Amino acid sequence: MKQRVRGLASAAILGLAASTHAAFDCPLVEGREGGDRIPLIFAAAGYAEADKALYEADVDAAIQAFLQEPPYRSYREHFTFYRAWTPSLRSGVTEAPSDSSFGRIYMGEIYPKWDEDKFYSTYGDTQYTCRQRDSRLLLNNRVIFMVKYPQVGKSGVMLGSSNRVFCLRGSATTVLHELGHSLGELSDEYDGFPSWGSTTWNPDGTPIHRLYNVTRNIQRDSIPWKVWIADTVPIPTEPGYRDNNAIGAYEGADYQSVGTYRPSAFCLMRDYSHYCKICRESLASHILSYTSRTFANRISLDTVAPFPSRSAWSPTVVSGGSVVVRRIPGDTMPVSLRWRFNGVWLTGVRETLDVAILPGDGSLEAILAGESPFIRNPDLIPRDTLRWTVRKPSGARARSGRADGIRCIGPGLFVVESGVSVPQWARSANGKRVPLHVVARTADGWLVRGPSTFGEVLFPDGMDNKANTVGGVR
Ligand SMILES: [Zn+2]
Repeated sequence: MKQRVRGLASAAILGLAASTHAAFDCPLVEGREGGDRIPLIFAAAGYAEADKALYEADVDAAIQAFLQEPPYRSYREHFTFYRAWTPSLRSGVTEAPSDSSFGRIYMGEIYPKWDEDKFYSTYGDTQYTCRQRDSRLLLNNRVIFMVKYPQVGKSGVMLGSSNRVFCLRGSATTVLHELGHSLGELSDEYDGFPSWGSTTWNPDGTPIHRLYNVTRNIQRDSIPWKVWIADTVPIPTEPGYRDNNAIGAYEGADYQSVGTYRPSAFCLMRDYSHYCKICRESLASHILSYTSRTFANRISLDTVAPFPSRSAWSPTVVSGGSVVVRRIPGDTMPVSLRWRFNGVWLTGVRETLDVAILPGDGSLEAILAGESPFIRNPDLIPRDTLRWTVRKPSGARARSGRADGIRCIGPGLFVVESGVSVPQWARSANGKRVPLHVVARTADGWLVRGPSTFGEVLFPDGMDNKANTVGGVR
């Protein structure tokens, strides 16, 4: 269940400085901090001091279910879980607005409710803030409120398109369903509640957010997930279609049984099974492009240094050292990273680039693409280009040596021009043969690295018998 509420972002900022708070604990319970990881913070509503162990077990069950569910389990390193302990004065939320529970949360007819006016200005009469952490952690990130309510038959809810998720304890799949709204901008796929209207389209028919898993237009070419639909699958797709797992356009979604369509017969956004392929695609796309900073359309990274420019006209200048672009490790299929210098692809460079290997000055780019087995729609593949301008101090330029298409550009670094066979070995100063290896393809040949103390480069046998001294010795 998803509910529309407007104007809460500004309210959240106002609430930040509102009042003095008592401290509460907010330990990290799973994952690592740093980079563009997505913090998910659990908070307790209706758990009294005596319910602490129950709360911790409930949070643990939700985290374990989350980490088992595709696509999250392929991107588990992208998430950092916190467990705020926000005890309420009384055990169990009631059905009347109350001061006794964290967030002033109470139980409505169908799902938990809260006092909108007071929700962000105070967290209830037992007021809290994070002891070890900035209270912004709670205000600026997704918070999953675990609600302890003694009866069954109620639902979880996500607040608008925001980062507040409310789930009744005891149903880890509710947590996954509500996080589907929050993390993937997914619509509900169930039907049978026509009076609820829509949380996807405005009354005038314009969409509230980008459409991922529901549509009202079933022209084959207009369906948001059209790239997933086989030509043999009829549109609309009958509920009893022979292939239960076929992606199609099944009638019934966004609470309406007629005129609104969903991609799959089954989905966690409908019947609490597992996310369908289309919902996984949206989730993977959002996870890979989550950013902890304010740039739009960027790819989530563990580390980037020096901080890059994203525009060609205001580049960050680097003169030496390393350029590091580290992806969040552990992905089943990691974001692809390719480097380009003055328009020419570099090969063999991984996440750390030594500026010294670049032949001269110019424009360095790291080009990222969040390709994923979950993403088939080309429009949903996150892409990013990071830019630096290389301007080396003049004293660091190549000191010596050029012979037969090989030139030295620094200690142990040679550019072998196109058309010349790349040497395999060098002779070191003490006469030993030492291997050379290609570290990059450059604009005019190959960049070859060896130890920084040799004097000769030997051409491979059979190609040329000459041994050329090309310098670079220090
Ligand atoms: Zn779905």
